[in-house]
Amino acid sequence: AAKDQGKNNFRVFVSNMRQAADQRMFLQNELNRALEAGELTLHYQPQVRIQDAAVTGVEALVRWNHPVKGLIPPNQFIPHAEESGLIVPIGEWVLRTACKQNKAWQDQGLPPARIAVNLSARQLLKKDAVQIVESALQESGLSPEYLELEITEGTMLDVQRSIEALEKLKKLGIHIAMDDFGTGFSSLSYLTSFPVDKLKIDQSFIRGAADHPNNKTIIATIISMARHLKLKVIAEGVETQEQLLFLKEQACDEVQGYLFSRPLPAEEMERYLRGCARGYQLA
Ligand code: C2E
Ligand code: MG
Ligand code: MG
Ligand code: MG
Repeated sequence: AAKDQGKNNFRVFVSNMRQAADQRMFLQNELNRALEAGELTLHYQPQVRIQDAAVTGVEALVRWNHPVKGLIPPNQFIPHAEESGLIVPIGEWVLRTACKQNKAWQDQGLPPARIAVNLSARQLLKKDAVQIVESALQESGLSPEYLELEITEGTMLDVQRSIEALEKLKKLGIHIAMDDFGTGFSSLSYLTSFPVDKLKIDQSFIRGAADHPNNKTIIATIISMARHLKLKVIAEGVETQEQLLFLKEQACDEVQGYLFSRPLPAEEMERYLRGCARGYQLA
């Protein structure tokens, strides 16, 4: 009987595996279709300099506007896109759209800010990665100093090739930020060889800062290290005044989080930027 049960369990296991594979295939087909049908959309979240409250950057964050399921957040499809390789065309669309949007805001007379675009390691390792970035800049007319690429330390598949690509991008005048800093591995050894301009302290440290004093120590240490390495530092996931105050005391350069704004569709972000620009003139 035990043997029979074992068999049954195996059958269940295989059928679950098939289901998982089917589901993966389904999602990949759906994603491919979504990209072609124009169902992907970008939301934008401001990055604010603590010192004078100026908006120095805007991060572009992809969403899937599904005709039936509504707005799907990236953590529900980006991992599948990474796995299937679809992240490459999706990421290219994000990059081109974000560059055009930033140029449009500048053409409307809004104070220039950098557009921050998340770049997956798979995109960075493509042979034509640098060409694609160059062409996105050319096509949009955006000056390279207003583009920042956010890379993650945990996904560095091929360190040597990544460094080569990043160095070419840096030569174009683009900024590089290390996203989710502190959550990957080997981060400190990479820091000396990666041509990065900015560290983004992962939001898990900020979220835990009030309850776990160790998180405060980690934040303070990252900020101090960044200063010594002459890197800018931004904290993400800032939701409370208390967190902002602590970051200000530690001389963190910039902040991003719900305290200032949730990620917003382009038109709403435009209104937000306009409001900031007015406040800016009054100040
Ligand atoms: P990320 O690049 O670290 O982006 C920050 C995430 O934190 C965003 O989630 C943002 O909405 C969220 N966030 C910002 N402020 C706060 C806050 O105060 N509190 C909380 N709880 N969350 C906050 P989102 O938009 O769901 O994106 C999740 C992740 O998906 C991103 O993390 C990034 O890794 C990935 N992603 C998004 N867009 C793209 C893209 O175009 N390409 C690639 N490769 N990945 C992307
Ligand atoms: Mg990011
Ligand atoms: Mg992050
Ligand atoms: Mg993240």
